[in-house]
Amino acid sequence: MFSYRHAFHAGNHADVLKHTVLIATLDHLLEKEAALTVVDTHAGAGLYRLDGDYAGTSGEAADGVLRFFAESSKAAETPAPGAPAAKSAGKKAAVPAEDKPVAEAIARYLSVIHDFNPKGGARVYPGSPFIVQHLLRDHDKLKLFELHPTDSRTLGANIAQLEAGRQIAVLTEDGFGSATKFLPPPSRRALVLMDPSYEMKTDYGRVLDFAAEALKRFATGTYAVWYPIIPRPEAHDLPRRLKTMATKAGKSWLHATLTVKSSKITKDAASGETQRPGLPASGMFLINPPYTLKAQLAEALPQLAERLAQDRNAAYSLESGG
Ligand code: SAM
Repeated sequence: MFSYRHAFHAGNHADVLKHTVLIATLDHLLEKEAALTVVDTHAGAGLYRLDGDYAGTSGEAADGVLRFFAESSKAAETPAPGAPAAKSAGKKAAVPAEDKPVAEAIARYLSVIHDFNPKGGARVYPGSPFIVQHLLRDHDKLKLFELHPTDSRTLGANIAQLEAGRQIAVLTEDGFGSATKFLPPPSRRALVLMDPSYEMKTDYGRVLDFAAEALKRFATGTYAVWYPIIPRPEAHDLPRRLKTMATKAGKSWLHATLTVKSSKITKDAASGETQRPGLPASGMFLINPPYTLKAQLAEALPQLAERLAQDRNAAYSLESGG
């Protein structure tokens, strides 16, 4: 346990999907004046350097958020938030063939990233705690759970700098075990983000148990689950079982997936070594999503698939029910 560190993955294609959906969801929920409580059951360290050792080693952001920034400048130049990226002849550019207006949800995502990089580029990448805090109003609340001792300490130190006082609570506790204690919040308005590392395959079952318990306590909350799409039965079953849970509870749901490459394991012709593709795809499943989200993602997902494609298998899906 605990070998996963989000710093290696910050800003990758899965973060782009997750944070685009998170921002679009929050934007809608924050239109109402009544206080909102956001519970982040798996918060991570909160803020990441994309030019630091961790992200530099994995290079995952280069095929994620950095695809939206000028390639030649190592993220020194930024397109204006929401503007189409510069055209590039590079192999990985994945720039749309003709200029199209950037989807509203992507433009919002880019503008939030820009807010953390006012001098341009994307050297700093905000994780979910900082994205949420950036958007919340003074009377909203944020509850952050992070169990990794080092990441929890870093998160605590990062959050302390915001001097947000009692608005934000950082808990070094098991998000699955204790986050339901905040449900329902006094204002009866909440968004719960479940974003485990799925380091242990029991995480899939724990997401389901947590969602079932949370829905029982607070049926009208908005619940968002990120999950990896990998060849593992538990990963395959998770959205199917969430769908069944939401349908049985009479709740609306939305399921969005983004694939950037093939999941096939290949062999290097020269060395004969097995090559694993890394994470090829991921999904977001929401229960009680904003009614506006489906139309926003219908516009954004084709652009994300096009821009983040790593091979011809790039694709997306979007379905909803209830
Ligand atoms: N939500 C973050 C974001 O979007 O920036 C990324 C979170 S990362 C995918 C998952 C985090 O969950 C890791 O930092 C890991 O240490 C932490 N974690 C693992 N098991 C946990 C648990 N049971 N409760 C709380 N945090 C846990």
